[in-house]
Amino acid sequence: MIFNVQRYSTHDGEGIRTLIFYKGCPLNCHWCSNPESQSFDYSLMYDRKLCKNFGDCLKVNGTAITQTEHNGIQIQRESLSNIENFREVCISKAMTLSGEKKSVDELLIEIEKDRPFYRENGGVTLSGGEPLSQGDELVALLKRLKMKKIGVNMETSLHVKWNRVARCIGYVDAFLVDLKHLDSRKFRTYTNGDVKLVMDNLVRLTNSEANVVIRIPVIPDFNHTEKEISNMIDFILTLKKVKEVHLLPYHTFGVEKYKMLDMDYKMSNRKQVEDRELAPYIQYAKSKGIEIKIGG
Ligand code: SF4
Repeated sequence: MIFNVQRYSTHDGEGIRTLIFYKGCPLNCHWCSNPESQSFDYSLMYDRKLCKNFGDCLKVNGTAITQTEHNGIQIQRESLSNIENFREVCISKAMTLSGEKKSVDELLIEIEKDRPFYRENGGVTLSGGEPLSQGDELVALLKRLKMKKIGVNMETSLHVKWNRVARCIGYVDAFLVDLKHLDSRKFRTYTNGDVKLVMDNLVRLTNSEANVVIRIPVIPDFNHTEKEISNMIDFILTLKKVKEVHLLPYHTFGVEKYKMLDMDYKMSNRKQVEDRELAPYIQYAKSKGIEIKIGG
């Protein structure tokens, strides 16, 4: 299942790219800017600001959707059923359904529309969510893209069993891997994941023929200190083959979506990280012979 196709992107890999966002992630990073990507199922989103109170959503499921006394609606998410019926119900687009099942052929039709723009270094970037958590259709898509000579980058947290990574090597031109932290306790607290799984996979991936770009999200109160970032740079130095290292400064672009999903945004009251705050990290990396870029 995907939740977005973004065209003509110049981020997340070289050249002009089509970004395909898969739904479902094994992690729940507190700063995640795509909270709708975390569930493997459809997600119902409600934007109070767009609601005109036409009430069409109440007709779909009057148990799960109730009107509030402040002219809005409330979703009892545990009572939602036949959630797909909400897809086209709201003409003011206050209520939208995130998630769309697309076959490999349907995805290829979308991708082919952008092909004239790829030139020699553009292509497709698979993102999410966690693309590596997808089933066999992911590998089927990768094989078809390889046959069509369309380049593929993949954004991943590597928080999956190794066989899910290994099946994609040879079909992905560059793995854009998030390295978030090295400390198991902090990683667990802020992402609900196991850092050892990520580090073991990263070592194995950089020992393979794959091209690996490491991206460090710089997050306040999580890893935004010289000690924590320099530890990660020192770890990168021990890896066999890393093509590039990028720093991704924390931003708050996804905050409104948490409200639309009735999800708790655990990073509230944190300021965005400015590029100038990254100077000591870039300097440290440089002193160790690593050039770091800011951004995707
Ligand atoms: S790994 Fe990415 S998609 Fe998954 S929760 Fe973290 S930031 Fe969100």
